[in-house]
Amino acid sequence: MTRRLPGQWLPQLLDAMLVALLLAVGLAGSVAAYRGLSLKAAAQQRELLNAMGQSVVSAFDLELVRAIEALQVSGQMMSAQGLPTREQFARYGASLLGESSALTLLEWQPVVPHAQLAEFERRAALEQPGYRVVEPATEYDSDGFVAARSRELHVPVLYSWPEAGAALGVDMAFDPRRMRSKLLARDAGSPVASETFGLIRRGQSGPAVTGFAVSAPVYRKAQLMGVEARRTELLGFLAGVVDVPGLMREAALRADANALDLFVFDQDERHRLIYASAGSEPFHADEGDTTLSVDVGGRPWQLVLRPRTGFVGAGRDEMPLLALGAGAVATLLVALAVARSLVIRRRLERTEAVLAEDRQRMANVLEGTAAGTWDWHFDSGRLIVNERWAQMLGRTRAELEPITVTTWERLCHVGDLIEANEVLKRHLEGQEERFSAEFRVRHADGHWVWVQSTGSVFQRAADGRPLRLAGTHMDISRRKADEQRLQDDARALEAANRQLRDLAILDALTGAFNRRHFNDVCLAALAGAQRGQAVALCMLDVDHFKAYNDHYGHQAGDAVLKTLSQTLRDGLKRSTDALFRLGGEEFGIIFSATSMEAAQHFVGTLSAALHELALPHEKSPQRIVTASFGLAWWAAPTSHLTPETMYAAADAALYEAKRSGRDRIVFHRFLAGEGESAPLAGVL
Ligand code: GH3
Ligand code: MG
Ligand code: MG
Repeated sequence: MTRRLPGQWLPQLLDAMLVALLLAVGLAGSVAAYRGLSLKAAAQQRELLNAMGQSVVSAFDLELVRAIEALQVSGQMMSAQGLPTREQFARYGASLLGESSALTLLEWQPVVPHAQLAEFERRAALEQPGYRVVEPATEYDSDGFVAARSRELHVPVLYSWPEAGAALGVDMAFDPRRMRSKLLARDAGSPVASETFGLIRRGQSGPAVTGFAVSAPVYRKAQLMGVEARRTELLGFLAGVVDVPGLMREAALRADANALDLFVFDQDERHRLIYASAGSEPFHADEGDTTLSVDVGGRPWQLVLRPRTGFVGAGRDEMPLLALGAGAVATLLVALAVARSLVIRRRLERTEAVLAEDRQRMANVLEGTAAGTWDWHFDSGRLIVNERWAQMLGRTRAELEPITVTTWERLCHVGDLIEANEVLKRHLEGQEERFSAEFRVRHADGHWVWVQSTGSVFQRAADGRPLRLAGTHMDISRRKADEQRLQDDARALEAANRQLRDLAILDALTGAFNRRHFNDVCLAALAGAQRGQAVALCMLDVDHFKAYNDHYGHQAGDAVLKTLSQTLRDGLKRSTDALFRLGGEEFGIIFSATSMEAAQHFVGTLSAALHELALPHEKSPQRIVTASFGLAWWAAPTSHLTPETMYAAADAALYEAKRSGRDRIVFHRFLAGEGESAPLAGVL
């Protein structure tokens, strides 16, 4: 059963907003952490890359600087000491190249005005047979060479070390790019590196190796000042050739060892890529690139280091992602947990509302039925009751505190307590499904209040031991009073009925059966007798009773009759023996006796009892009240014997007792069938 509570959507909306806020804050925090760590990691990576870059640069920079310095020194030396011979140059070259790993070739390139070219070729050919000043047949073609074209100045390679495969005779003036650095060097008076180009190797085929030349100017005199002087006094250039792959080899190895790709650009050459360790052209700028600027013989080079996937710093890249992931997951988990707890809380609130409603309903029911409630904590004996419980006893809970089961036992009627405990025991043992008992409890005013207590165990321990019982108390005093009244009425009615019945069959004065009842009792006795038992009837009449009345008064006579009747009844032996007042002062006794002798003896005891009473009777010869007895005994009565016959027989015997002098017993014995059908006429 689901119940919608008013305004229920509002807390749910707030819950949703709270969870959303939590998510937003958590995720924002995670992203911030990610970005912070990313920036830090990126900075660290940049730092690391910079350090590596420095290490990479230093791998070739130092060598290059030394080579350039060596070229400068050699150039100055040649300026001071004059031009070298071919042998001298070979020695220069051998020692210079031996010292510098950056230089692969050393060339002497004199400046030859066009007018002197023929003379120059002639003299050179003396030294190097077949020497001619040439230039590549086509631009950037090192395969075919033609005679140098006519130009103002020629800068042919005269000497080269090593000579094998050198560009001997090639006029470097053919290429303005090659010349640009030389002219700069001439004006500056110090070595200048050229841009890179395909190195000319005469007699060698295959793709040209990228390289550059560092040209140191050689003048006629040392220590020249000013550009003009340098231009006029220039003799030529000492050029050291550097092949870029060779130069970068060590640097590339270092870069590779650190999982970096190395790219080298010449910034002056419209940012031309002159070296790529990975050979991965075309080059695209990448975010992770680290760029270093290096001065290579006056040329601004740019080294780009690009981390490869296996870069040592790459691992750190995972930290921000990990932080982001962990943050997001943690946020989600927390949000989920919070959402769950909120859902549970709302559900609890709904359940509580339903419970509160149920409680209220229960309270209303209890209020309506005026029931007292009790909740018995079995172990502690504590009894938690409602106010009505105490009110039933004319008290308040506060007055009764602390309320325990003893409180109840103390107030309960002892007699009822025993039975209530019996009922409780049966319930606790599981014999009765419910505990239900009625008992009296003492009211503050002193009277007893009848209480109906109903309850049951509602909590048990794991081993089945009862822990708590709860139930109600109802005041049933009124019902009990009604019941009592009904009971009393029933008793009264029963008594009245009994009285009525007695009145019908008893004689009011003496309490003996009356004459009307004689026939019934007589017939019952005969019914028993006919199963083979003997039966007897004795009649007696007080002697001289008229005289007694006359002398002592009628009331005294009544008293005698009462006393006499009581004495006779006391003398009866069996429950079936019965005394009758047959009329006036005449009585009859029906009794059973197994023999005539027993019957005689029995009547004798009655007569003796009368004598023992010794009621004074002045007007009787015996001076006490006496009676005459007529006894009839039937040994084996048959169905023919009737009350009338029996009466007649006993009366006849009584008559004889009177006639023969009074205060005596006359008896008649009847054997089988005898005296059963001869009633005396007119007696009844
Ligand atoms: P006996 O039997 O010895 O021949 O003499 P009796 O005087 O007893 O003679 P009878 O039987 O004729 O008299 C009976 C008297 O008993 C008559 C009457 O006054 C008295 N009597 C009868 N019924 C009652 C009674 O209920 N109360 C009292 N006080 N006297 C009664
Ligand atoms: Mg009489
Ligand atoms: Mg008499």
